[in-house]
Amino acid sequence: MNDQSSPKPGTTLRELSCADDYDPNSLPVERARELIRRFLEPVTAVERVAIRAALGRTLAEDVISPLDVPGHDNSAMDGWAVRFDDLAASGETSLARVGESFAGRPFEGELRKGEAVRIFTGGVMPEGADTVVMQERASETPGGVRIAQGAVTKLGQNRRFAGEDLKAGGMVFARGQPLNPAEIGMLASLGIGEVSVYRKLRVAFFSTGDELVSVGTPLAQGQIYDSNRYTIHGMLARMGFDTLDMGVVRDVPGDLERAFATAAANADVVITSGGVSVGEADYVKTLLDKLGEVVFWKIAMKPGRPLAYGRIGGAHFFGLPGNPVSVMVTFYEFVRDALLHLAGRRDTPPLPMLKATLTAPIRKMPGRTEFQRAIVSRDDAGNALVRVTGDQGSGILSSMSRANCFVVLGTAVGNVDAGASVDVQLLDGLV
Ligand code: AMP
Ligand code: MG
Repeated sequence: MNDQSSPKPGTTLRELSCADDYDPNSLPVERARELIRRFLEPVTAVERVAIRAALGRTLAEDVISPLDVPGHDNSAMDGWAVRFDDLAASGETSLARVGESFAGRPFEGELRKGEAVRIFTGGVMPEGADTVVMQERASETPGGVRIAQGAVTKLGQNRRFAGEDLKAGGMVFARGQPLNPAEIGMLASLGIGEVSVYRKLRVAFFSTGDELVSVGTPLAQGQIYDSNRYTIHGMLARMGFDTLDMGVVRDVPGDLERAFATAAANADVVITSGGVSVGEADYVKTLLDKLGEVVFWKIAMKPGRPLAYGRIGGAHFFGLPGNPVSVMVTFYEFVRDALLHLAGRRDTPPLPMLKATLTAPIRKMPGRTEFQRAIVSRDDAGNALVRVTGDQGSGILSSMSRANCFVVLGTAVGNVDAGASVDVQLLDGLV
């Protein structure tokens, strides 16, 4: 990348808007993601935590293996540790039993010509033995064992080598690695009890709208319950971030200004919903121009066309649309990736995509990217099939609840016929 396409973090949005040929009123999805990326400066503060507490966090140091894993050559099978050279090329081989090697209780002596040691999975390979015969191919005899012809085909068979999983001195994990159960287990296998992780990202959020009422208060005429704060909280908490729920803020300039200032002073990221659609936008824009810098983006997508991104003080700001489905779609398409990056993740892979066959036609206008809520399944032959959840209105949150994926239809695409192969973005475990 050259300097022009990747300004240093800290470049202002205003500088960018002068230097760059972008249309803030209809940004393609990809372009919007790329622009947001340019302004993200990951957290740098770290803390030491016990490995169990590191689950879901991001590693802030390279981890070098202090030892070989496994630490010794050992058996992959229950069977007999032997010298490969002792095994007859034709006919059975009889060997003398000289001892046992259990996992955690090794055979102390050395295996000599014509000898075998009874060995169990994980048992240390005795000195002198190089190969393990699985017990199913051998029969015990008084004082020894008889091994079938062809029981092993090569030297070193059924033997695990010291360091075959991890080598002492080798890089196990690089900084920026997410710590999931496999990584926590690997750290434990190295005897590492504590690691440095980046501090948790702190995300403040509030809803805007005069019509909104919090759960627990009866509804008056024309009022609705605020669901976005619950969805947003769920999506953030699932990602392991610290959250600061600031409630509902009325569409009153003074209230909004105070809320933005408090949120920005107390969090790395401020997320709001509502107040960015036509009619409300100019008003919030004026306020945000005063408090920070913001470009109001109308993204060429559906749902979620109005989406604001900018900065307020030291905090990043995402102004999500008010419609409940748009909130979730814009979160997963833009905010999730940005938050992972800010949290110090080295790679932030997009949600997994696959191709699936559409079972019913979809009507679509070219010129914008659409994310239709859908259900992907497999037919008897194992092919992926996908059908949309029905009404795709951006206020219909049940469409999100029923869905396990988005059908992603690119900008150029128009109506799509049944039987067409379409891109499907998996939401497994997310919605
Ligand atoms: P707005 O972007 O503020 O114009 O809101 C668009 C639509 O989403 C309107 O129908 C709002 O009533 C609805 N809406 C806005 N905020 C919320 C919220 N927090 N929970 C549920 N619906 C909302
Ligand atoms: Mg509103």
